[in-house]
Amino acid sequence: MYRFSFVGMKRILVILTGGTICMVRHPQSGALCPADVETFKAYVPEIFAGDIRVEMLPFNPLIDSSDISPENWVKMATTVADHYANYDGFVILHGTDTMSYSASALSFMLENLAKPVVFTGAQLPVGVLRSDAKENLLTAIEIAAATNAAGKAMVPEVTVFFEDSLFRANRTTKKNAERFEAFDSFNYPSLAKAGVHIQYRTNCIRYPHDNFPLFTHLHTCTDVAVLKLFPGINETVVRAVLDTPNLRGLVLETYGSGNAPSAHWLYQALKQATDKGIIIVNKTQCSMGSVDMGQYEVAQNLLKAGVLSGYDITTEALLTKMMTLFGENPDNPEKVKHLLQTPIAGEMTIPYQG
Ligand code: ASP
Repeated sequence: MYRFSFVGMKRILVILTGGTICMVRHPQSGALCPADVETFKAYVPEIFAGDIRVEMLPFNPLIDSSDISPENWVKMATTVADHYANYDGFVILHGTDTMSYSASALSFMLENLAKPVVFTGAQLPVGVLRSDAKENLLTAIEIAAATNAAGKAMVPEVTVFFEDSLFRANRTTKKNAERFEAFDSFNYPSLAKAGVHIQYRTNCIRYPHDNFPLFTHLHTCTDVAVLKLFPGINETVVRAVLDTPNLRGLVLETYGSGNAPSAHWLYQALKQATDKGIIIVNKTQCSMGSVDMGQYEVAQNLLKAGVLSGYDITTEALLTKMMTLFGENPDNPEKVKHLLQTPIAGEMTIPYQG
């Protein structure tokens, strides 16, 4: 653990995309609605009074994160890239519902990132007295501005900060719709804990190769799907998903360490799909732990059908990784397959097979 102190005036750009954090009560109707940027600023005057220079850039319109689409991810990534040279770090205010998808997507879109991009949001609107918005925002700004003894960004990754924890973005999942502690990173330690001091776990943070410029991957492809297995799932349902026109990739949510029913029709349907070129990746329905298709006979069938392992990746990270890889490599399925089996932004851990 490392305790940081920063020197000098840092510049942080806060990008507002919407969500509960950006909401206030309408003065007449009392209904919650997105705040304009001046109203938002009036609720958090502290962030402009400290020794970090904060500027705000609102998207228009501010949206509920249920309406976020890959075009919005591209806009977020482009905004970071366009302002990259002028700021020391970025904070993205975003609705909590799909924050893990957006934050994961940006982790794949922003290669060689050397500056912090911290997503945060709130469970209660900024305009509500007990809101968690102010604390989340203030700490996210402090993290985005933090540097180490060498003057480099303390956390040069895409991250999610919520309540008291900083997580690697592509390891997160929204776990709670009610409590302030809304996110978790089940298969990877938090990168920092905020108490009286912010304690950084420097040994868990990813650092970029020096001198490689930021590189953006802005093409996405939505010809992907998620299929969650359940006891009693029938052939019609499975084939309907696999027969989706233009389907390129499928996240197959399996049981335990990557197991599926042993029914021959399932094996056949999956095999026919992979033979057609659809890339299927096995992701366990468990929040914690990893896929291991060598362990049980019922999983070995999946291996034989050409299904790949997702190891300990989250569904949010796997899906957004597929979308960016297919978008960037439309004619190179072998490359997509290879990269899906390779950690490219710290999104999964492949167990040592000695
Ligand atoms: N529905 C909201 C959103 O995701 C919830 C939130 O921000 O917490 O935009």
